[in-house]
Amino acid sequence: MGQLSTGALATINRVPFGCLVCKGEIFFDRKVKLNTTGAEFMNMGWMNQSATGLVCTRCGYVHLFLNDAIEYWRPESGYPSP
Ligand SMILES: [Zn+2]
Repeated sequence: MGQLSTGALATINRVPFGCLVCKGEIFFDRKVKLNTTGAEFMNMGWMNQSATGLVCTRCGYVHLFLNDAIEYWRPESGYPSP
């Protein structure tokens, strides 16, 4: 598990993020280690790090992110005001 103990809303650069599969809006986060060999093969050694996986709590689809723009929000409070 990542830093979230319960599911949360997620934004990317403050844009509300929904599951690409089921449009779900509640996610768990999970650190994902990227495949070193594959990264080097693609001449993208900088990717040899951990990514953040947003796991949809409804369907389980994992969305991978390499940036630090993900923010989490309590479902009961909703998304932040623009
Ligand atoms: Zn989903």
